[in-house]
Amino acid sequence: MEVIVAENAGFCFGVKRAVKMAFDAVGEDQVHTLGPLIHNPQVVERLLEKGVRQVADLSEVKGGTVILRSHGVSSPQVVADAQAAGLRVVDATCPFVTNAQRYAKQLVDEGYQVVMVGNRNHPETQSVLGHAGGDILVTEVFEEIQKRLNRFSKKRVGIISQTTQTYGTFSQIVVQCLRICEEVKVFNTICYATEDNQTEVEQMAGAVQAMVVVGGKNSANTGHLADLCRDIGVPTYHIETAHEIEPDWFFDVRKVGVAAGASTPDWIIEEVVSHLRKL
Ligand code: SF4
Repeated sequence: MEVIVAENAGFCFGVKRAVKMAFDAVGEDQVHTLGPLIHNPQVVERLLEKGVRQVADLSEVKGGTVILRSHGVSSPQVVADAQAAGLRVVDATCPFVTNAQRYAKQLVDEGYQVVMVGNRNHPETQSVLGHAGGDILVTEVFEEIQKRLNRFSKKRVGIISQTTQTYGTFSQIVVQCLRICEEVKVFNTICYATEDNQTEVEQMAGAVQAMVVVGGKNSANTGHLADLCRDIGVPTYHIETAHEIEPDWFFDVRKVGVAAGASTPDWIIEEVVSHLRKL
């Protein structure tokens, strides 16, 4: 069986930056991350082995350093509280997330009904909501936007998206809003790493008989990659590590594609590829 691997598979710019910041802090007294540094349990575990402990809340930190994760924190107040408590703050928020926070705030300040195309429960979305304030609607369903806008006589909508959103869903929502709104202001907040990864994976999925997508089950962008492959109609397996691979999946498969989310480390991708090459 031939195994082909996506060139863009693995750590994106924002994750590389955050992981480097965390490993640079190893050896200092009491290093913490507020929430998981990135959405990959194996990386979080490796950091713990090096003494970088994950906490859910600042109240658990009694001193030392606190690293703000790549998805950002829930509000600017968290940073102020950490500084007031005398902690050293290392801000590993991805600059693309900071951008989304800034555009969301701008749209709120300009008086638009703001729509963020994404998942309300994702930490990145929570950080954008916390930084922008205002009544932002987070959804991937046009009917929910329509229902909300019915309350306003003048329909002015400002749209951004979660950085890992697919272009298909984002552009569909924009086009649907154009049909019912007087004014639509759009900021493209999908990050280039997501875009490159999605384009490459879509092409790959059309040229193989099976796709293996590697990454945290809690990783939004890994989940989106797997969905894109399924939409194309190719059998797709979303796994976190090589141990989950089942040989039966590849009965009759001549060529398999391997893709990985932006928070998947090289060592896990390499294990998966070498396991598949032995089948
Ligand atoms: S996927 Fe994009 S937004 Fe998310 S951490 Fe990576 S570069 Fe930043």
